[in-house]
Amino acid sequence: MPQKNTKKTDKEKTATTRTTSTKDTHTHKYIFVVGGVMSGVGKGVTTASIGTILQSKGFRVSLIKADPYLNVDAGTMNPTEHGEVFVLDSGLETDQDMGNYERFLNKSLLPENYMTNGMVFKYVIDKERALGYKGKCVEPVYHITEEILRRIKASIEKTDSEITIFEIGGTVGEYQNAIFLEAARMLRLKHPKDVMFVVVSYLPVPGTLGEMKTKPTQNAVRQLNSYGINADMIIARSHIPLDHKRKEKIALSTGVPVDNVISAPDIESIYDVPINFENDGLSERVLEHFGIQARQKDLVQWRAMVARRKNTKKELKIAVIGKYFDTGDFVLSDAYLSVIEAVKFSSWASGAKTKLTWINSKEYETSPKKISELKNFDGVIVPGGFGESGIEGVIMAIKFARENKIPYFGLCYGMQLAVIEYCRNVLGWKDANTAEINPKAEHLVIDIMPEQKKLLEAGKYGASMRLGAYTAFLKKGTIAEKAYGTESVGGKISERHRHRYEVSPEYIAEIEHGGMVFSATSPDGRLMEIAELPKSVHPFFLGSQFHPELKARPLSPHPLFTAFVQACLKNKAK
Ligand code: GLN
Repeated sequence: MPQKNTKKTDKEKTATTRTTSTKDTHTHKYIFVVGGVMSGVGKGVTTASIGTILQSKGFRVSLIKADPYLNVDAGTMNPTEHGEVFVLDSGLETDQDMGNYERFLNKSLLPENYMTNGMVFKYVIDKERALGYKGKCVEPVYHITEEILRRIKASIEKTDSEITIFEIGGTVGEYQNAIFLEAARMLRLKHPKDVMFVVVSYLPVPGTLGEMKTKPTQNAVRQLNSYGINADMIIARSHIPLDHKRKEKIALSTGVPVDNVISAPDIESIYDVPINFENDGLSERVLEHFGIQARQKDLVQWRAMVARRKNTKKELKIAVIGKYFDTGDFVLSDAYLSVIEAVKFSSWASGAKTKLTWINSKEYETSPKKISELKNFDGVIVPGGFGESGIEGVIMAIKFARENKIPYFGLCYGMQLAVIEYCRNVLGWKDANTAEINPKAEHLVIDIMPEQKKLLEAGKYGASMRLGAYTAFLKKGTIAEKAYGTESVGGKISERHRHRYEVSPEYIAEIEHGGMVFSATSPDGRLMEIAELPKSVHPFFLGSQFHPELKARPLSPHPLFTAFVQACLKNKAK
């Protein structure tokens, strides 16, 4: 009797595989954004802009930034070298690109939206040390790539998204980001129709030639090919728009369809980018790639915001006084990126354009007379900071703003230093100080938080500050309460923090007795979250222990920044 063959023939096997793949219900779409030619040409803004467009077409979009460095988070990096540390609600300290993501998507992101090589490697190594790989040889490929893909999957679940846009930090060809590219390649292998690769490239126009050169872009795309990845779209960043001839040249040499070569010339404002992309048909091409259709009319609110920016009639001059200004214009704008953007949003919403002037506070220490230049400004901001350098100059500036009734807005350190200035010059405690500068001062009006003291004594610096979103309650009848208006229900607010020091509980009562109002506190009443002077004394003198700039968005400006800008406008009109 012939034996019944239970084994499947090769043909049957293929059929089964086919059936499985047609049954594949995986519908999530992935867009990987990688840089070609050089960094710093707007890969983050490109990623965020594609997100804005797709979100406005009715899709649930999630953005992920993958940074190639080994720091486990961005918290330990110097802002003058790496730019601002952007803190999420969760307290995760991330790269400044995450700020752009939140501002462009108009929503708060989760820890799952961010990863660094350090974070991924640490997880795998910790797991290996805990015998989590059960005796296997643990290797970058497959275990690191597997961990990157696990994180992407976790982010999809946590964010309930349909489209993930994943920005790979650095530039193609670097050793550091190769592992992310390898993970992306593997994902495409698994879901060929659901993955798209976008290369953000740069096309120089050398002054001597006056002609736009495409060769570096061609080479970058070829380099990506060497990883086993074909580009599907090229965002061609350049000083000027790309002509059709250049698009054809790039298309021919890279195999990317000519319509998928998107022109991205320099623009006045990054908030124009989504609109420019749309003018060049970007989203149509993306949706076509995935075979999906838009669900609603796009960018309505966004266009209205951009129109507001273009229609500003009034002009404001605001001085920003701090210390990270030694290294030139390029760096300082990155170190305070969210502050700059927050001022813009509130200004546009108030019909104004604001020019920020950066003042290094050390200048006031060496030439005190210079301080009178502050009279020429409509308002003064002191942003967050750490350490001793330039601090006496900052305090001089705060005193000047207070005495001359120039609107003052202090952010974190700017609030602590305003309290010190008030204690020294109004309450007469000449040595008032913060423990960060002089822990031996008799009037330690700003002191280290007790739990922070323990952490520092144990040498635990990374991710150990009071970080992320905490609830606070506003005091009735204050400037802060009025500013939040309907944005606070029952006086409750939630704002993001990054600090180790606080207004010392020992001095709160005396300072309040001396005229300063603590207009928001933590729910237990222990931490002073906003300090202000009453309107009868000063038109706007307010500082927050938190960083309101981290929650300011173009489509929803922050109420405290708006109140400040409006006070500046009133001051100017005087
Ligand atoms: N250095 C201050 C603190 O740690 C302020 C921090 C900040 O401005 N982010 O409390």
